[in-house]
Amino acid sequence: MDTILVVNAGSSSLKFEVFSVTDDLNSLLEGQMEGIGSAPHLRIKDRDGRVLAEHTHASADVPDLPSAILRVGAWLRDQHEGDLVAVGHRVVHGGPDYDRPVLVNEQIVSDLERYVPLAPLHQPHNLTAIRAVIDRRPDLPQVACFDTSFHRNHSPVTSHYAIPEHFFAEGVRRYGFHGLSYEYVAGRLREVAPSVAGGKLIVAHLGNGASLCAISGGRSIESTFGFTALDGIPMGARCGQIDPGVLLYLLQQKGMSADEVQDLLYKESGLKGLSGVSNDVRALLSSEDPRAAFALEHFVHRIGLHAGMLAAALGGLDAFVFTAGIGENSPDMRARVAARLEWLGARIDPVRNAAGALDVAASDSAVRLYVVPTDEELMIARHTMALLRGG
Ligand code: ADP
Repeated sequence: MDTILVVNAGSSSLKFEVFSVTDDLNSLLEGQMEGIGSAPHLRIKDRDGRVLAEHTHASADVPDLPSAILRVGAWLRDQHEGDLVAVGHRVVHGGPDYDRPVLVNEQIVSDLERYVPLAPLHQPHNLTAIRAVIDRRPDLPQVACFDTSFHRNHSPVTSHYAIPEHFFAEGVRRYGFHGLSYEYVAGRLREVAPSVAGGKLIVAHLGNGASLCAISGGRSIESTFGFTALDGIPMGARCGQIDPGVLLYLLQQKGMSADEVQDLLYKESGLKGLSGVSNDVRALLSSEDPRAAFALEHFVHRIGLHAGMLAAALGGLDAFVFTAGIGENSPDMRARVAARLEWLGARIDPVRNAAGALDVAASDSAVRLYVVPTDEELMIARHTMALLRGG
């Protein structure tokens, strides 16, 4: 049985999923190595949720991402039947040049290094994972799938900042991210809600990272993300849209270094920074601390504002779609966001919403409301298979 391994590598965790390749792709198992370099813990489950492996390693045994990949590779080789024919990677930034998934080689990986400063928390780890596989299995085809690709058809008006033009040529542009998630959801809508899939949609990817995407005719036309994955709505620990003057103040008046500002904006802001309680929406919903409630109120307020901007970009709104951890699992947060869309004619059905139905809109709602679970790994596996087959 031929299989594809999908890899999503982060700073201290490695998520992966294995798909069998026949006419279609079927998930066989998924796993995660967490706590790389500190308290490494590997957990692998089959498609029915049964635990296939659970192991805590000494930190010296899994000190970094390449060693984590070796461990996972060794487990697959020893414990899993199947012939690995390719690896698909999530790569956050494809910059201006990579507008579609690509079969990687050493040259392309070096090229993608240029975008490390644009996604400092993700890109280096994505590329380290590819290099680790090249070192071990140079024969194995690897495909890089970019979070930016789905947005690459944005108009010049959308992708420019109002700064001197030469910066655009240098790559200082509004790119947009979470593209693999949006591409998957747009495709899924064609299956489950064909009557609206080609219309004017806002998809809200509300997870630890969070953004909104305006989709028209199945294509992304606007995103709340810009040059980096800091822009737009506030996130678990990222700030979202912020007046650039605040950054000048932090640098010039507070004497913070660029690295300190980066840490503040990526790791100490958002729901975590505002609440002082947690970046986790579940923890905030169950907290008695008024700052937790305030952080959620701010989050919902900003989602409402950005949804208004995207509705303006679309020139109307046929459907609003919830996805990712918060969007898929929290009826409470969905109801709060939907309330911000009432001025557009959206009405949520409380019973359908509580049940987590696909269509959670009331029958008299002028805007359809959907909950569509995302599957970025399957999207990556599809792209990988397509490239293997020369598509
Ligand atoms: P990531 O961006 O890391 O992939 P996820 O899509 O897994 O993130 O989403 C993580 C977020 O989803 C966290 O804020 C978590 O609190 C939230 N979440 C998960 N389940 C629930 C739930 N039942 N209710 C509220 N929030 C939830």
